[in-house]
Amino acid sequence: MTGPKPLSNILEITPYKGGQKLDHGWKLSSNENPLGASPEAHEALLKAAEHVEIYPDGSAFALRQALGKKYGIDPDRIVCGAGSDEIFQLLGRAYLQPGDEIIQSQHGFLVYKLVAQQAGAKCISAPETNLTADVDAILGCVTDKTKIVFLANPNNPTGSYVPYDEVKRLHKGLRDDILLVLDGAYAEYVRQNDYAAGMEMAGEEPNVLVTRTFSKIHGLAGLRVGWAYGPESVIDAIHRVRGPFNVNSLAQAAAIAALGDDSFVTRSADHNNSELDRMKPALETMGYKVYPSVCNFLLIEFEDKDGKRAADADAFLRSRGIVIRDMVAYGLPKCMRLTIGTKEGNDEVLEAFEAFAKAD
Ligand SMILES: *Cc1c(COP(=O)(O)O)cnc(C)c1O
Repeated sequence: MTGPKPLSNILEITPYKGGQKLDHGWKLSSNENPLGASPEAHEALLKAAEHVEIYPDGSAFALRQALGKKYGIDPDRIVCGAGSDEIFQLLGRAYLQPGDEIIQSQHGFLVYKLVAQQAGAKCISAPETNLTADVDAILGCVTDKTKIVFLANPNNPTGSYVPYDEVKRLHKGLRDDILLVLDGAYAEYVRQNDYAAGMEMAGEEPNVLVTRTFSKIHGLAGLRVGWAYGPESVIDAIHRVRGPFNVNSLAQAAAIAALGDDSFVTRSADHNNSELDRMKPALETMGYKVYPSVCNFLLIEFEDKDGKRAADADAFLRSRGIVIRDMVAYGLPKCMRLTIGTKEGNDEVLEAFEAFAKAD
């Protein structure tokens, strides 16, 4: 007996591996918010938990209204998902079939490739320049089979971003039957003036979709809430393929409350930025190569020397109760990604990195 056989393209998928958990110590492997979540979101969650017998609002009406108000956009052109991950999956379902192609940049977020593979489509990787997405390289990958271009801006795991002018140039270079997805998972952290998440483009262009998430700055990763904003036709397509109750009621309630708590968002961004500004030079002073980051993590490159490689650092940090993320799956085997933690956690991280640098 062999049992049921999945489609051959499904068997080619390497399942996504999340950051490892720890019983104690510091988990800095999944870009989670070190400040937790808004107390108001917690309260709303507990209140919603009193009525788990009731189905969620399948259209996430109140959440879309709140998002529309917050961002000054039309709630009818928003769709919510169980994380932005689900939105990507739904795009695959709605737009991709075997033989199609998607384009992402070389060290782009892993989930885009999974989406392509599930549909039997091909994921084309556009070479990056200095670990940054390269608009000309992406445009050079376009063929008549291209259906979606995914751009995480800023990108995980590189921490780099593409200035808004360049994003506009990318869009101008694409046929209008190609969907440009601007994944703004880290948009709230970016301080640079030449950056924009692309909400305005998603409002005006027929083929630009922006995705956002409650997992990072709002600290609600465990609840799985994300959303997308874009042209009516794309939003309509996503609605057709989503599960009728894809975002649960606790997640919706918490997300609405989180949106109302600006002070938590400000505190999270301020904490991140001051800690980024402290951690990067401190690590560089110890001799590490650290890439510039506008996100809530740093990409650190290790020497290619016995006892000093990324895997050695990983083992050393683990022995001190610190877990960070290896980058083999992203094609960056010399690097590790370190999420910005609490001040206390970061102090321990710096101590551990210093000890590793000095160890022989
Ligand atoms: C974390 C992350 C997301 C968010 O995923 P959710 O499914 O919303 O939790 C999306 N894109 C990138 C690049 C990320 O790093």
